[in-house]
Amino acid sequence: MKDDCIFCMIASGKIPSATIYEDSHFRVFLDINPVTKGHCLIVPKEHFDNIYELDAETAAKVFSLATMLSRTLKKALKCDGMNIVQNNGTVAGQTVFHFHMHLIPRYDNDGVTILEEQAPGNMEEIEELRKLIKAEL
Ligand code: 5GP
Ligand code: ZN
Repeated sequence: MKDDCIFCMIASGKIPSATIYEDSHFRVFLDINPVTKGHCLIVPKEHFDNIYELDAETAAKVFSLATMLSRTLKKALKCDGMNIVQNNGTVAGQTVFHFHMHLIPRYDNDGVTILEEQAPGNMEEIEELRKLIKAEL
């Protein structure tokens, strides 16, 4: 539990939330500023600032929960698609510095745009990046 962390307080139940799922490691609740109907956040009860701090066991559990709850949301909301979003760092849009994963149900013609500013890359640069990244593995 980190002092002054809003998600530590929500995850522990000290601050109420519209919880859809809870177990000993996680709380999943509806976002107060939903991008679409049913936008949820998967939040570990333990504090991690971001993905760089997450241990492998928690990471595996997060994705396992995401798959289970995506199916649940699809059934409950009859959504047409699902975006899984996870922001790390201010530049990436992170505003709460306690690791969390967004489940964003998508609906035909909902008008939401996520990662739509892509353009063909330079293949030489892509090859240089491939080498640079692989060298760290
Ligand atoms: P981030 O931008 O860090 O990836 O996402 C933080 C999310 O937490 C935002 O979508 C924001 O609306 C949501 N959020 C921030 N404070 C609260 C809160 O007190 N309760 C709930 N339910 N969601 C919150
Ligand atoms: Zn926290």
